[in-house]
Amino acid sequence: MSHAHAIFDAIEIKKLGGELSEEVIRTVVAGYTDGAVPDYQMAALLMAIFIQGMGYEETLALTRSMADSGEHYSFPECVDKHSTGGVGDKVSLTALPIVAACGAPVAKLSGRGLGTTGGTIDKLESIPSFSVGLSEERFRRQVEEVGMAIIEAGDLAPADKAIYSLRDTTGTVDSLPLIGSSIVSKKAATGAGYLLYDVKRGSGAFMKTTEDARELAELLVRLSEDLGIKASALITDMDNPLGAAVGNALEVRESVRFLRGEEVLEDLSHEASYVAARLLELKGINDPEGAVQNAISSGAAYEKLREFVRAQGGDALDDLPVSKEVREVTAPRGGNVARFHALGIGRAALTLGAGREKKGDEIDHGAGVEVLVKVGEKIEGGEPVARLYGGRNVERAEALVREALELSDEPVDPAPAILDSL
Ligand code: URA
Repeated sequence: MSHAHAIFDAIEIKKLGGELSEEVIRTVVAGYTDGAVPDYQMAALLMAIFIQGMGYEETLALTRSMADSGEHYSFPECVDKHSTGGVGDKVSLTALPIVAACGAPVAKLSGRGLGTTGGTIDKLESIPSFSVGLSEERFRRQVEEVGMAIIEAGDLAPADKAIYSLRDTTGTVDSLPLIGSSIVSKKAATGAGYLLYDVKRGSGAFMKTTEDARELAELLVRLSEDLGIKASALITDMDNPLGAAVGNALEVRESVRFLRGEEVLEDLSHEASYVAARLLELKGINDPEGAVQNAISSGAAYEKLREFVRAQGGDALDDLPVSKEVREVTAPRGGNVARFHALGIGRAALTLGAGREKKGDEIDHGAGVEVLVKVGEKIEGGEPVARLYGGRNVERAEALVREALELSDEPVDPAPAILDSL
């Protein structure tokens, strides 16, 4: 079947709500990736898919076709985790050194942040001299020797890269089958054998409700299992930022504190430990909770983080480039903290330079926000509620943080950080 026929058929079939065959999907995906199918036809097909939806078999075929569109790695013994993106989400930095210290090797390809959600690669790059671009051979060797390596996802699933940027400009991002196939295609191409999805739900996340998050979680697990990956998923809260720090060096610093056994906020320590235990359970390791606690209290998890950072060229973790320009934000009045909206805090960090407004923007690794109060706390007017780091747009960031703080006159019970697991 020619590319020209396949895309024409696909648009006609999908427009009327019909089902696409695997052959049509494969031909269209291959044609779009090598430039034979033009943007306008692909955009028409994506919009038809957005409106009509796709059945499970079509979604699986799309996932497979995108996974097969470029290089494939294979790390069947390794574990990986994927977060759908959040504000202050440092679970990879905290949970993965723990699992690696417990004997479950980690091979991870990760991305940069865009918008208000941070990316693990930007966070790691805040460590002076850290390299995120190892050759495949060095990546493999480090996984074998250190038990943990994280690099930037380069040319994996190039079809997804092309389709994603078209979706981004044609109003077709928020379609469940398109999101599911996009995420799983990259994971399948990375080739880790065990995978935990952390699907975030809330104002700072892609999925706004627990029901939508559960639907995505179920799809991610099913697609992964059908592609030979042992997978499970969690649904976690993203109405509020996770832990205290939002911003690259700030988040690494908070992760280091946690792994050193120092006290951090309860939502972070609970979620990082929980994710680590679930990964160990997937891998079949006995007494996962006990192993996690032991790895932290013995210092093994922190040692593993240092070993991994050194192996990728990183300097001392004690000397992170956190901005020296600091301003405190105070509460406009007293009350009980009902919410510190993740989206507002994420926007404030972005404004200060911790993220990119658009692809390619320069970020300030030392910039960000530290929240000083959490949901349920009773505070006085004039009390410090957050610290701003960085010198860009400080007034605007302060206004965003103040707006993000929602106070109630009634006592508030904090929601659990982990809302569901499957
Ligand atoms: N993340 C992805 O990788 N793809 C999507 O479509 C949405 C979020």
